[in-house]
Amino acid sequence: MSEYMTKRNALLAQKVIKGLASRNMTGYYAEGREAARDLALSLIDEGATVTMGGGMSIHEIGLVEALKAGNYSFIDRDAYEDKRAAMLLAYDADVFLSSANAITDDGILVNIDGNANRVSAIAQGPRKVVFIVGMNKVCCDVDSAMKRARNVAAPANVQRFGLSTPCAKTGACMDCKSPDTICCQFLITRFSRHKDRIHVILVNEALGF
Ligand code: SF4
Repeated sequence: MSEYMTKRNALLAQKVIKGLASRNMTGYYAEGREAARDLALSLIDEGATVTMGGGMSIHEIGLVEALKAGNYSFIDRDAYEDKRAAMLLAYDADVFLSSANAITDDGILVNIDGNANRVSAIAQGPRKVVFIVGMNKVCCDVDSAMKRARNVAAPANVQRFGLSTPCAKTGACMDCKSPDTICCQFLITRFSRHKDRIHVILVNEALGF
């Protein structure tokens, strides 16, 4: 990250954090991956039940490894043969970790989901939700955040999962109704009714898609 982008990101993050505060959510800014990981760990009590919705950003900052190595009850969905059982455990977890497909510069989070386990847990269930969001995900309004989610995040995730959708061939959203579509549910988080439930760690890095 160049010093110019670092300065820009530090300034822009303050605007996002202010917007989050106005929406009853708490924002933080981390200068890099290690700082983001340590910040996330400081928000998770020892012994807490923790699970996640499959975000690349969470892996990229080393948080999954730290949780597995630490004194936490980490629900590793990949280790469960019964995926449905693992997903249902998330609703009663102490902490749910997620990345975001996009966030506006005034603090609105945008997420798209296929199975909807991630967006449903963000909306309701886990006592605390901690987002890890690279500054590459910040957009100027909801319209551009939706466009980013559909034209950047979703087509990249389709490649990641090897799915057969129009965007897998074009790289851009074709608004499909393919059986493989991962764009089934859209969640716009514009306010948290419950104070101290949603925490967003903005990271001075390009993370995820
Ligand atoms: S709606 Fe279909 S084409 Fe558009 S991003 Fe989602 S999966 Fe791809």
